[in-house]
Amino acid sequence: MIDSMDREYLQRAKLFANVGLESVEHLFEGCRRMKLERGDRLLQPGVANSHLYLIFDGELRVYLEDRSMPEQAVLGAGDCVGEMSLLDGQAASALVLAARDSELLAIPHDVLWSLVDCSHGVARNLLAIMAGRMRESNQSLVALQTRSLEFEQAASVDALTGIYNRHWLLDAFPRAIARCERDGAPLCLVMADIDLFKHFNERFGYLSGDALLRRMARRLADGLRAQDLFARYGGEEFLILLPHTSLDEALPIAGRLRELVAIGCGLPTGEGVTLSCGVAPMLGGESLEALIARADAALKRAKENGRDRVEVAV
Ligand code: GH3
Ligand code: MG
Ligand code: MG
Repeated sequence: MIDSMDREYLQRAKLFANVGLESVEHLFEGCRRMKLERGDRLLQPGVANSHLYLIFDGELRVYLEDRSMPEQAVLGAGDCVGEMSLLDGQAASALVLAARDSELLAIPHDVLWSLVDCSHGVARNLLAIMAGRMRESNQSLVALQTRSLEFEQAASVDALTGIYNRHWLLDAFPRAIARCERDGAPLCLVMADIDLFKHFNERFGYLSGDALLRRMARRLADGLRAQDLFARYGGEEFLILLPHTSLDEALPIAGRLRELVAIGCGLPTGEGVTLSCGVAPMLGGESLEALIARADAALKRAKENGRDRVEVAV
């Protein structure tokens, strides 16, 4: 028999919404009342579960693996937990803890099946509860995917300048190189480096240096064509991959980038900021690493020959 207190709790439970309790009352004999103290574990991932728990009073929290992540759900009076194991007969997939002292009714799975057999209302409510759970988990999957896309993007974008970083280019450049090779098209790599940037920092401060880098990245990006790939390679060095571009076409592009920087990134004193570039046309079968090394060697020559110029790799 269920007492009047329990009856009140049962009537508030989602599982028994719009169900006449008289029709199923005899089945409650197989159920057990239980108390949890704050912090007690009810379910644990990987541990067998053969009950559905109705929360009469208190609060339970659901965690996906352990408490290192925020809780997945907060359950209170009228909610239930443990119903997923009913469907697949598997161990619990989440950690469920009492967040407050709580009162529960433990319904063994076989009693729950009898309740379903006895009452269409219970069957319908159980379906609604499970559909709600699935919708919740779909929503958290979508949220998770969105977050992981954001992380991926954060990992490939340089925080200071907002352009792609070295991590990204090491993945994207080889793919562009492979496409050009497949098409039998030429390709050039430009390494651009700000001249005497150390002096700039010393004269105007590191923060002004940061602002210059940001400005310069924007200028360079504006000066490139849609198909060109552009990334911050290191401190004040940028790499620009020009697909389907011969050396004859690449040289004026590099020259234009130098002009853009000279015009658009001037110092507060009116002096210009200059850029040196090394340009390397890709050799057949060359790796990205080898191509970068040749562009770097050309850049070094540009520095040795007085900076503010473009040199071609040998
Ligand atoms: P060179 O013309 O030979 O390239 O001379 P340089 O001074 O530009 O080159 P060097 O390699 O001697 O110094 C590079 C400077 O770039 C030193 C470093 O402090 C500065 N730098 C690198 N990353 C950043 C950054 O994120 N912000 C700022 N403000 N400075 C940076
Ligand atoms: Mg430099
Ligand atoms: Mg440098």
